[in-house]
Amino acid sequence: MFGRRIEVTWLIHRKRGVIVLLDLKDGKCRSCGGQLQIVDVDDATMDAECSECGDSYRVEPNAFNDGGIKYWPEAMAAREAGEL
Ligand SMILES: [Zn+2]
Repeated sequence: MFGRRIEVTWLIHRKRGVIVLLDLKDGKCRSCGGQLQIVDVDDATMDAECSECGDSYRVEPNAFNDGGIKYWPEAMAAREAGEL
């Protein structure tokens, strides 16, 4: 049985749970160009925070190059699992 292959390269497991990191080609910090991570999510928005300078943005689920099908569902799944 071939299930959905989950792409895990941008998930980093840490003590406090899963951190959803954005691929730099999909979006980066507007201030310093650093890597963004999703720190909160709900039905209509995501909160992205720069891992370099700490700037944060509230964005729509499709704000990045993934068309809303990659980061947002994974962030929602992480939140439902209590990991975000
Ligand atoms: Zn930054």
